[in-house]
Amino acid sequence: MPVRGGRWGSFWELRARQLQRQLQAKEERIVELETENALLHLKLAESREVTGRDHRAETPRRGYSSSALTRLRRAAQKLKREMEALQSSSRGLLQSYREEHRDCLSEIVRAIQTAQLHHEALLAAWPAEAGRLERSLRDVTERWRREQRERRRLQEALAELKGNIRVHCRIRPLLPFDDEAQEPVSQNSSLSGGVVHAVDDETVLVDCTRPGHPLINKTYTFERVYSPAESQRVVFEDVCPLLTSFLDGYNVCIMAYGQTGSGKSFTMLGPHRQEEPAPPSEPHGDAGIIPRAAGELFRLISEDASRSPEVDISIVEVYNNDIFDLLANDSCQVASGVKRQVLTTQQGKKAVCGLTYQSVRSAAEFLTLVGRGLQLRAKQPTAVHAESSRSHLVITVTLAAAASPRGPGGRPSTPAPRSDRSASTEPCRPGPRSPATGRRQSLPVPRRTRGRGLGRAAPDPLGQVHATLQLVDLAGSECVGVSGVTGPALRETSCINRSLAALSDVLGALAEGRGHIPYRNSRLTHLLQDALGGDAKLQVIVCVSPGQRHVTETLQSLGFGARARQVERGHPAPRKLR
Ligand code: ADP
Ligand code: MG
Repeated sequence: MPVRGGRWGSFWELRARQLQRQLQAKEERIVELETENALLHLKLAESREVTGRDHRAETPRRGYSSSALTRLRRAAQKLKREMEALQSSSRGLLQSYREEHRDCLSEIVRAIQTAQLHHEALLAAWPAEAGRLERSLRDVTERWRREQRERRRLQEALAELKGNIRVHCRIRPLLPFDDEAQEPVSQNSSLSGGVVHAVDDETVLVDCTRPGHPLINKTYTFERVYSPAESQRVVFEDVCPLLTSFLDGYNVCIMAYGQTGSGKSFTMLGPHRQEEPAPPSEPHGDAGIIPRAAGELFRLISEDASRSPEVDISIVEVYNNDIFDLLANDSCQVASGVKRQVLTTQQGKKAVCGLTYQSVRSAAEFLTLVGRGLQLRAKQPTAVHAESSRSHLVITVTLAAAASPRGPGGRPSTPAPRSDRSASTEPCRPGPRSPATGRRQSLPVPRRTRGRGLGRAAPDPLGQVHATLQLVDLAGSECVGVSGVTGPALRETSCINRSLAALSDVLGALAEGRGHIPYRNSRLTHLLQDALGGDAKLQVIVCVSPGQRHVTETLQSLGFGARARQVERGHPAPRKLR
C-alpha cells in the first residue's frame, strides 16, 4: 500500500526499507545455517556408515577399536548437540523475525492511517484557511485604501492651508508619431520605447540611457501621477471635488501644461474631431475634463436649485500675446475673435473688459458654446503634432448664487432679483443680458471680502456669492528644431514659448516669496494673475509624452510642475534675506 502524507510517508518508507534489509540478512543467515546443517547431517551419516562398517569388519578386533568407537560417538553427540542448538537458534531467529515483521507492518498501517487522517484534515481545513487568508487580505487592502484616502485628505487640507498649487502629472501612451523623424542614433527599436514611467501613483521616473548622451535617471513626486493606461474618467474623478468647491464659493482654476502633443487638449477637452459633444449625462468615454465638468456642474446645481445659481461663461484665447474674445460677434454679428484688454478693477482684481459672457442653463448649452469657441481657436500642424493649438484657451465660468449653507456667510439667503444684483457691482463682470442676443457685457467685479489663503468668497451685501472657475488648455511649449515650424508659425511658437517662460517665472517668484511677481511680462500671466497668485484653488495637470525623443521637453515640464508645487500662497513666504 503506498504511503502518502509527506514527512510521515517518507519516515515509514525508510523504516520499511531498513527492516527489509534486516530481514534479508536474517534470511541469508538461515540459508547459511541450513547449509551447515545439511553438511553436518552428511558428516553424521558418513560417520555412522563408517562406524557400522568398522563394527562389522572389526568385530573380531572389538577390544582394539572400542576407544575409537567412543570417540566417534562423542563426536556424533557433539554434532547432534550443535545441530540442535542451530535448529533452536534458527527457530528463535525466525520467531523474532516474524514478530518484528508483524510489529513493522502494524506500525506502517498506523502511520498510513495517521497520514490519511492528516491529509483529510488538511483537505477539510484548506478552503476555510484560504478563505480566512483571502478575507484578511481584503481587510488589509481596504485598510490600506482608507489610510491612503485619509493621507490624501490630510495632504489636501494641508495644501489648502498653505495655499499650495496642486500638481498632477499625466503620462500619455506612446503613439505612432512618437517614432517619426527619430534621430539616426535612436532608430534602434529598443531605444524608441517609453522613457517616462509612473513608478506609483505619486512618483514619475525619467530613465533614459541613450548612447552618446548623458544618462538620465530622475524621479519627481506629485500629488498624483497617472500612468498611460489611466482613463479620462479617473483623471476627472480627482479634479471633480473642485467643482463642489466652486459651488461653495471658491475660485478654482484647472490648467493643463506640457509640450505640444503631450495630451493637454486631450485631457481638457477630449480627442480631436469629436463630431458632437457627448451628452453630458453620459460623457463619451474619452471626453475630457471640460465636458465632464459641465455635466457635473449642472448635476450639482440641479441637486440644490434653491440657491438660484446663475452661470455665465466666457471663452478667450491668448494668441501671439493678445487676448481674443471667442464668443464675440463682429459688427455684422458674425462670430469672430475680438481683441480685448486686461484691466485691474478697483478691488485690484484682473478682468477682461468688454468680454462677452453668455448665460448657460445646461451642460448642453455650455458645450455648444465651447464648440463654437474652439472653431475659432488658432491651430497649426507641426512636425510633432498635426493639430497643434497655437493659443492658450481660457474658459471662465462665473457663478452667482445664494450663499451656500456651507459658505463663510453660513446663512442660506434668498437671492436678490437680477437687476438689483447688478446695481451693486463695479466694472468688469457679467452684466445685464441684452434682450436681443442673450449676451452680457462685462460689469465690475463685486466687492467681496476674503480671508487669506484659499478662502471662500464671502457673500455680498445681497447674500450672493460669486466665484469663478477657469479651465485652461495652454498651448504647448516646443523646441523649434523638433517641431519644424517656419514663417508666421515661428512667431507663434516664439510667443507661446515666451508666455510659458513668463508663467514659469511667475511661479518661481511666488515660490521664492519675492516682493515683485512679474505678472505683467505676458498677457497670459496677467490674465491668470488672480488664479496664480490669488486665493483660487489652482490645479495644474502636467502632461508629458513618454517617448525618448521628447525627453528634454519632458524634463522641462516636470521641472515646471515641481516648481509649481513649491508655491505657498496661504502664508506669505518669508522674503529672502540678502
Ligand atoms: P497637446 O494639446 O498637448 O498638443 P493633444 O491633446 O492634442 O496634445 O494630444 C496629441 C495626440 O495624442 C492626440 O492625437 C491625442 O488624441 C493623443 N493623446 C493624448 N493623450 C492621450 C491619451 N491619454 N490617450 C490616448 N491618446 C492621447
Ligand atoms: Mg493642444
